[in-house]
Amino acid sequence: MEAKADYYEVLGVSRDADARTIKRAFLKKARTLHPDVNKAPDAEEKFKEVNEAYSVLSDERKRANYDRYGDPDGPSGFGGGGVDVSDIFGGFGMDDIFSSFFGGGAASGRAARTAGRDMGITLRVTLAEAAAGCTKTVAYDRLAPCDDCNGSGCAEGGHVTTCSRCHGTGRVVTVQQTILGQMQTQSECPVCHGTGHSIDHPCETCGGQGRTPNHETVKVDIPAGVHSGQSLKVEGFGEAGIRGDRSGDLIVRVEVVEGERFQREGDDLYCMEDVTALEAMCGCTLDVEGVMADEHVSVCVPAGSQNAQHIEVEGYGMPRQGSHARGKLVVVLNVVVPGDLSSADLETIRVIAAARGERVPGEAADSGEDLFGHRHGRAASAKPKHRK
Ligand code: ZN
Ligand code: ZN
Repeated sequence: MEAKADYYEVLGVSRDADARTIKRAFLKKARTLHPDVNKAPDAEEKFKEVNEAYSVLSDERKRANYDRYGDPDGPSGFGGGGVDVSDIFGGFGMDDIFSSFFGGGAASGRAARTAGRDMGITLRVTLAEAAAGCTKTVAYDRLAPCDDCNGSGCAEGGHVTTCSRCHGTGRVVTVQQTILGQMQTQSECPVCHGTGHSIDHPCETCGGQGRTPNHETVKVDIPAGVHSGQSLKVEGFGEAGIRGDRSGDLIVRVEVVEGERFQREGDDLYCMEDVTALEAMCGCTLDVEGVMADEHVSVCVPAGSQNAQHIEVEGYGMPRQGSHARGKLVVVLNVVVPGDLSSADLETIRVIAAARGERVPGEAADSGEDLFGHRHGRAASAKPKHRK
């Protein structure tokens, strides 16, 4: 195996370089090596090398591992301990961000697009978090305003002028000779990226775009009672505009993950609770855990309750957004019949049933053995039908 080049050497920075220096060095190198720009045969290989070096040195944990063990994944190749945030958002990775940074953006569209686009991510929260409301930190990659020029794209003393290549139109026409004759294609001006402007002294870090790929973390306030599919907008945290133009928004789509305990219907919560046959017959009070932390709900089960009966408790469901009210908690009763009564117990119950004029099952119908021997044969054979 070929020995890997030292990541610090690849980027041309010292081993104690700070994050900003590393990023600056990376962007400068990457901009000249990106396959869209550089057609040299080894450009792609070099670009990959630079990219790999940056992906390690820009990640604190990987860099520490690399410094200590010479391996970004740690001593035995196991990453260990790091939080993988990729599951809380989707759609964007550094690769997409890079191609829009280096590639110059969308080639279609007549007018030059200099405003930043909206970005969308998905954020999962538990039902308890949705009930109480919470603040979540999300991490994602975006084109952010360039730190070095404050988004202007100009180096110190630089000026914005009309682009000399496209004369301010933002479009260039290329003429190609084909077997069918001349073919004209119009495309975005590669010099000004369709903006129609150029800068005499562009900022070296962002190449005059006024924005750079950045790993961003942002706090998102999740309102109590949020629903799955609801979108929250974090203004200005989408893609940054070119040279200080308006940034897009970050659209956070919330996904509420229901646990085993509750099922949600609108603002109402359903949960199933076991009661014994006797409790169902006599009535009882249940202490049911609510959806909020340390919440206990006293649920009154009336005498004569049936299996699968719903008992509604107002005000213990999910919070209704925009008000202080809450939906209902609906307790679904699961009446559990004892399966281990002695023959004496059963005889007593038969006497009660007979006195009430109910049908009384004879011992013969139960075939005797059942009463004494806990014969499992019938129960066991019936079980698989109910299994999921
Ligand atoms: Zn131009
Ligand atoms: Zn800049």
